[in-house]
Amino acid sequence: MSSKKLSPGDILDARCSRCKTLTNHTLIALVDDTPAQVQCNTCGGKHKYRPPATSKTTRTAERKRVSTPRISPAEKARTVWQAALEGNDPSTAVAYRMDIALVPGQLVNHPTFGLGLVQSTGNRKAILLFEEGEKILRCGE
Ligand SMILES: [Zn+2]
Repeated sequence: MSSKKLSPGDILDARCSRCKTLTNHTLIALVDDTPAQVQCNTCGGKHKYRPPATSKTTRTAERKRVSTPRISPAEKARTVWQAALEGNDPSTAVAYRMDIALVPGQLVNHPTFGLGLVQSTGNRKAILLFEEGEKILRCGE
């Protein structure tokens, strides 16, 4: 497995707790061909061998969000919502209640979704356009 056998006196990279960085160390003692005791060539401190922390390859599996210039669905919904609300006065919005009678074109203030515009109504349900997209909410008649 190991290409080269280490022996005391060899110089190797190790993390030094005093220097708090990766420094050259002189190998003092080995246990089962593994560095055990080293001496820091920078501060002279003797301590247990700590291998350089380079084994981060497994971390790269973490999914990274790729930022593409494409418009996300959330952004698109917001654009549509902003366009729909244009020319409407937010102060005319009514507070949403399950039993409130809604008409298309009405502005509604929802405690969770915020400002929404009624798209259509029927069967005691209303489709409202909110910043995050369309929602079907209960309403009165
Ligand atoms: Zn050191």
